[in-house]
Amino acid sequence: MSAAVQCVSVLGATGSIGTSTLDVIARHPDRYRLHALTAHTSREALLALCQRHRPAVAVLADEADAAWLRERLAAAGLDTQARAGEAALVEVAEASEVDVVMAAIVGAAGLLPTLAAVRAGKRVLLANKEALVMSGALFMDAVATHGATLLPIDSEHNAIYQCLPAEHRGGLARHGVTQLLLTASGGPFLGWTPAQLAEVTPAQACAHPNWSMGRKISVDSATLMNKGLELIEACWLFDARPEQVQVVVHPQSVIHSMAAYSDGSVIAQLGNPDMRTPIAYGLAWPQRIDAGVEPLDLFQVARLDFQAPDEMAFPCLRLAREAMAAGGTAPAVLNAANEVAVDAFLAGRLPFTAVAELVARVRDARPVLPADELATILDEDRQARQTAQAILVRMLEETI
Ligand code: NAD
Ligand code: MG
Repeated sequence: MSAAVQCVSVLGATGSIGTSTLDVIARHPDRYRLHALTAHTSREALLALCQRHRPAVAVLADEADAAWLRERLAAAGLDTQARAGEAALVEVAEASEVDVVMAAIVGAAGLLPTLAAVRAGKRVLLANKEALVMSGALFMDAVATHGATLLPIDSEHNAIYQCLPAEHRGGLARHGVTQLLLTASGGPFLGWTPAQLAEVTPAQACAHPNWSMGRKISVDSATLMNKGLELIEACWLFDARPEQVQVVVHPQSVIHSMAAYSDGSVIAQLGNPDMRTPIAYGLAWPQRIDAGVEPLDLFQVARLDFQAPDEMAFPCLRLAREAMAAGGTAPAVLNAANEVAVDAFLAGRLPFTAVAELVARVRDARPVLPADELATILDEDRQARQTAQAILVRMLEETI
């Protein structure tokens, strides 16, 4: 393999996607080298990654943590530079020596560095779906304007990407695609009644049957808000209308999603539920490389089941579809309210079933503004969080 070595920055390197990315990269030292690894506060974990992967730069949120890291790196004889803060995150996303940026920060915190990578025309591997949900048209316009290569890492979107023609811009209909079938595992509470759901604990919500993931996306998977965010993500990535995306519950998580065509064909992408497959696809596209993933054993899978999602028990999916239909800042508000609600649930302050209620109440309290300016989106994100905190306090008082 004589392709030039690609230089990669991994944003959110200590997380579930970040560590899977480093696992794939470490299998191909001839193809990839690391520019930067970043983390929020996990300085010990970042130090360990620096020792193992020797990036040029390491970024943490706070200067005190960066100073701690700097000292340890020097003591270990490593020449990795430790930096701090959002400006440093943006810098490692847009640095001229970087070819590929893995956007794997969780939540709205990833928007600015991910957008910086897009605006610098990088190959952007998008795991951080919240960034695209918040900024939709603005994000996709920036991809086109700056000639960035956007490759979806979310397993469903990566699957759809693989099931569509190589050049699928310009609307699905032009390519004979009638529907995108977005599969959902159904999460750990598939089939549960609202009464059972009311008693769910954070530990139960974070124990996903098929995927091992960060805590926020685990809760989103359990409420089906993850599928709602993914529906919005699919609309932007593939230029689809919400009604062209059908959610199909498929508990085995072997089919990662499908595209249906006007001649009756349905093309699916299958594989073991292991994020290293879409990560390796994004890193090597249009080539294929070893991801360290076990081959799929269909005899062991034996059967594939499908059912419709239960939007009565899991209203977050409907809330997301409505936010996409409302347009403008509505998806950014949905995302911000959901981040506050998930934090409150994980902290034991909010019942599981109240997550959707809080999101709906914030939606009702906020206007829908045009989302063509980044400043408007960031401001609405901040305001929606404040509104969510105020409504949360009221909801907690109501239940006392
Ligand atoms: P995680 O919680 O395991 O890791 C998050 C990473 O982001 C960590 O490195 C953390 O240090 C960093 N981070 C958190 N808050 C930050 C902040 N405020 N500023 C800077 N850095 C911050 O999360 P994850 O499961 O790896 O998910 C990452 C993203 O990928 C999410 O958007 C998620 O929806 C998406 N995703 C994850 C999976 C999965 O299997 N884990 C699958 C599909 C999509
Ligand atoms: Mg997914």
